[in-house]
Amino acid sequence: MATPASRRRPTFAGATTTAEALRVLLALAVLYGAMSLLVYRVIHMRHVAPLGPDAPPGEFSEGRVLQHLRRLVVDIPGRQEGTPGLEAAAQYIKGQLQGLAARAGPEYRIEVEETLVSGSFSMMFLRHRVTLGYRNHKNIVMRISSNVSEDDEPSLLVNGHYDSPLGSPGAADCGSCVASMLELSRLILDSGWVPPRPVIFLFNGAEELFLLGSHGFIKTHKWNNTIGAFINIEASGSGGADLVCQSGPGSWPSRIYAQTAKYPMANSVAQDMFGIIPGDTDYRIFAEDIANIPGLDIIFVLGGYFYHTSYDTLENLFPGSIQARGENLFNLVKAFTNSSMLLKESDASSKAVQDGIDDQRAIFFDYLTWFMVFYPRNLSLILHSLPVAVFLLAPLFLNFPNITFMSWFLTVLDLLKGMLLHAFCVILAIVIPAMAAGLRLLFTKNAMNWFAHPYLAFLMFVPTSLVGLFLPRIIWGLSEQSHFWGAFGLYSLITLAYMLAGLSGGFLTFFISMSILLGRSISSISRKQWSLQSPKSLFGYVIPMIPCILYCLYYGGFLIQFLIEKMGMMGSLPKPYGYFVPDVIVGAVVGLVVGWCFGPLAPIASRWLAKTSILQGFLQITVVALAISSQIFPYSTGAPKRVVLQHTFVTDANSIVESNYGFSVVDANSLEFLFNNAPEAAKWLKDNSKLSFKEKYLSDRSSWVALYPVPFLFSGSLKFPAQTEEIRKHYQHFPQLIVQKTLSNNGNRRVHLELSLGSLLEIWTTSLNITGPLSNWSFADYTLSAPQTVSGGPPSYICRLSGKSYENWSFWLEANSSEPLRIDVAVLDQYLVDSTKELKSLFPSWADMTVFTTFFSTYHL
Ligand SMILES: [Zn+2]
Repeated sequence: MATPASRRRPTFAGATTTAEALRVLLALAVLYGAMSLLVYRVIHMRHVAPLGPDAPPGEFSEGRVLQHLRRLVVDIPGRQEGTPGLEAAAQYIKGQLQGLAARAGPEYRIEVEETLVSGSFSMMFLRHRVTLGYRNHKNIVMRISSNVSEDDEPSLLVNGHYDSPLGSPGAADCGSCVASMLELSRLILDSGWVPPRPVIFLFNGAEELFLLGSHGFIKTHKWNNTIGAFINIEASGSGGADLVCQSGPGSWPSRIYAQTAKYPMANSVAQDMFGIIPGDTDYRIFAEDIANIPGLDIIFVLGGYFYHTSYDTLENLFPGSIQARGENLFNLVKAFTNSSMLLKESDASSKAVQDGIDDQRAIFFDYLTWFMVFYPRNLSLILHSLPVAVFLLAPLFLNFPNITFMSWFLTVLDLLKGMLLHAFCVILAIVIPAMAAGLRLLFTKNAMNWFAHPYLAFLMFVPTSLVGLFLPRIIWGLSEQSHFWGAFGLYSLITLAYMLAGLSGGFLTFFISMSILLGRSISSISRKQWSLQSPKSLFGYVIPMIPCILYCLYYGGFLIQFLIEKMGMMGSLPKPYGYFVPDVIVGAVVGLVVGWCFGPLAPIASRWLAKTSILQGFLQITVVALAISSQIFPYSTGAPKRVVLQHTFVTDANSIVESNYGFSVVDANSLEFLFNNAPEAAKWLKDNSKLSFKEKYLSDRSSWVALYPVPFLFSGSLKFPAQTEEIRKHYQHFPQLIVQKTLSNNGNRRVHLELSLGSLLEIWTTSLNITGPLSNWSFADYTLSAPQTVSGGPPSYICRLSGKSYENWSFWLEANSSEPLRIDVAVLDQYLVDSTKELKSLFPSWADMTVFTTFFSTYHL
């Protein structure tokens, strides 16, 4: 160490033999393989043993949750708005809660209520403005408190929704949430624990229609002012890590979580990333949009293949996940209701001001669900600056005691070269697999082959990424010391940059930089016994880094699995580039993770692995993997492709003008791919002739307004003629908009309208798309939000209505010029005519079909 880096003879990789290199590679492969296996088990919750239905009453039992779930998911055929199952589920939940209330001891005070909520408001969803009008959605509310509690005491809210998304049994989303809440409320009573502050369980009946149940509760319920904190439980997959995806406002909720969760699953980066994935939760209603209550958003994030599909079934739940969630929840409920910070919203803001509570976001992460690391932002300011300080002192330390300006300057220059070299290593580790992913698609017909087989992504992209990581050291024969300190400097600077940008992710590079420093120190001690060339000196470096590498594998493995699953619903971008996007992203992210997991080893391991023969071996594995992957189909029943089929009836008064089938997909493999692989359906549609994808079949987004704003994820929808009369056997009357009266005043006119939904019985939602000189309306407290543009058309205002269909909707629209107002009414009904059911059945089982009927009519006023 005493020799100045610049004067040390560079150690070239060639100094070690290929046989030795292979031994090192094998040993590292075994080490990484064992750690990956452990990580895989943790990510999939295999380390949590679920308790059976006969577990002691003082324990939370996944088995008992599954019993409730069987009733909610199997015995009740569907819990969608507009279907009888929704009410059946409400009655089941209410019955269970009343049963609990009846047998609770005298020390408890228990109230169970069924409430109907109605309202209207505007929000941003999938980055588009939508106005919502709703009426009579049913919430079931239970309040558990001690028998001496007061009505207005600050309370904890636990929220979960029992309605299901369109076309899905909703076992995880969110049957698992409400069934867990039933078990949790039972556990509170049976364990004899009396909550020091009230716990309110909100069994929310309308989340899938854009967060209406929670909106109705927080706006209108008599207990809404008492809520001091909330826990929202959700599912965007069927289990795995039960991740705290959002927390706040303030760091209090995440601190409570860090202190009490039995299997903590949280990190402060999740919040920075939450906006990228399509979807939203009730968290924003409670903590952001409507109220400002501190809380946690806890979501099942893996098994995203099944989210909002017909495969979200009991069989596809991950065993152990519900058990971990339940044990966490019970601890959290105890901690929140015991906390002195649990205050009513009105008192909380004044206490925060008085106490000068630091409202900045803290840094936190869980270590393989075993424990949690949590530190406030002001501590992170010191901690995360530490590596940079060490790096700045390194040139002095490396030249000690012969410090001259020249030696210092040459060392600084050397370390900067090392930093540049390591930056190249990491960049190539990302760019080369991304390029390989793009190139592969030029030679195959299918994108996303790794979708149903994630191991393919590892097989294809890890070796290519390693080539990128070790290549620069072959080309640029810099010394090991310069490379090491350069890498350390790079991680230090990234940590600092994260902190200065106000983001919460710097802990990973902080952890890496401190670990490699430790590894370096230990290996330099061990070098006194082993020669520099001995692989033992490498393991002297690697072993102290194992905790860090294990974390990188956990964090990176989770990220890749999550990303691969979500690629099935990220939407499709227009051809030709859209086809490449998911593959290139997955290639790049695998490369990024390789950069985290192997990058810290690169400065030392390069002595053995930065060899042309080794890199050639990696390239050969890649070529084989690319060839195998091209033979593998991207989808399976365990990883279905999402297909949307809309059977539209265009109506005028009570007659049918036109009927068609519209198709759309939400990932990179287009409808052409779908029909090529679903020949029976294609044949049925085109009546035995060859299917054409000509322009005349292309449909635009305005015909999908019933699903607004989801169609922003579509590109290249197709439309085929369908027969018109079959629906008449089921429905006599179609939806119709009727002008009641028109009032004129100073060039403004106000048109009062009544919307009848005809004889439709299974309505999910009704969308109004209004274009023209609209200046006001009776929705959202008489406030017009900014207009939206649907597929390049004129600016339009979109309002979605939901609630029981037998009642008509009355509303008014105001126009400030004599130009006509155009209103498209699209009513989404879940009833399917027989021919549509037949068409649906012709698609293979790897295609998850969301199928519905839309009644579309247009009015000019
Ligand atoms: Zn949900």
